[in-house]
Amino acid sequence: MVTLYRRLPRVEYVQPKTIEELLALRAQYAGKGALLAGGTDLMPKLKRREIEAPGCLIDLKGIPDLAYISNAEGDGLRIGALATLRAIETSALIQATYGILSQTASSMASVQIRNRGTVAGNLCNAVPSADTAPPLLALDATAKLMSQKGERIVPLDDFFIGPNKTVLSDDELLVEIQVPRVLPHSRGVYLKLTQRSSMELAVVGVAVMVSARNGVCENIKIALGAVAPTPMRAKRAEAVLRGQHFSEELIEHTARTAAEESRPIDDHRATQEYRRDMVEVLVKRAVIETISP
Ligand SMILES: Cc1cc2nc3c(=O)[nH]c(=O)nc-3n(C[C@H](O)[C@H](O)[C@H](O)COP(=O)(O)OP(=O)(O)OC[C@H]3O[C@@H](n4cnc5c(N)ncnc54)[C@H](O)[C@@H]3O)c2cc1C
Repeated sequence: MVTLYRRLPRVEYVQPKTIEELLALRAQYAGKGALLAGGTDLMPKLKRREIEAPGCLIDLKGIPDLAYISNAEGDGLRIGALATLRAIETSALIQATYGILSQTASSMASVQIRNRGTVAGNLCNAVPSADTAPPLLALDATAKLMSQKGERIVPLDDFFIGPNKTVLSDDELLVEIQVPRVLPHSRGVYLKLTQRSSMELAVVGVAVMVSARNGVCENIKIALGAVAPTPMRAKRAEAVLRGQHFSEELIEHTARTAAEESRPIDDHRATQEYRRDMVEVLVKRAVIETISP
């Protein structure tokens, strides 16, 4: 397949220096403006003419304070709108407590792209295969959205409404991703099936967070990518294992249930049958990995 990249279409460009200024521009260009973070999704789409040129590009990078990763109050992780994938991958704070996130970031794209691309941009672009979505869903993350009218907190589970569609309205900004504290005795893993070993989007992505003690599954979150119109939680599968002693039979039942819950499609990268089979394989593998010594 030949991909045609052309010059960027002519667009107005602004770089506000404060959030207030940014929100005012967002309101002014509601329905006509586009936010620009790293540009690693937006710029190729504009060059390929996959989307109409916006009336104005509103660049977030004039507000570098939005690039934070913090755990200031000790009540969970806060990821600002400009925190890059590379920062997530290399943050000592994230590696120590939210290892699933740094592991996921390291599986994405290349170092060059990770140096520019943001977690917020990955979520707002809202493709079903967005890699940061399954681990953040498994961590019960929420999105803090802001406009001139105020703020709202949306569970990530309600954030995606279709391919390339989120609940964000035209005048809003995803200002922060919030991740609650992880339960004690928790471990998580993200398994990404790709056609090539690097620089590849997920054919199937599976994130599992397990909290286990004395052979009992105290809690489990399973999230899937690239197997439904949006990244999704496999809640029926979680219910199979939650509160139970781990056994091979139950883990297999959990994995089968997750596969049944998935709603994959056929596309040029895989058939729906293959994707469903791979959900079963990867969920089983991920659960075993999280409880292995
Ligand atoms: C070569 C290559 C490889 C890639 N590999 C992967 C991969 O392995 N896995 C993967 O998931 N993705 C991959 N991507 C896609 C992309 O790099 C990521 O999705 C990245 O995280 C996007 O972030 P960004 O900051 O560049 O977003 P941008 O391109 O700046 O923005 C993306 C969209 O989100 C909107 N937006 C951005 N920030 C906000 C905000 N704070 N609030 C509201 N709206 C916002 C923009 O308006 C735009 O619509 C790849 C891209 C390339 C070019």
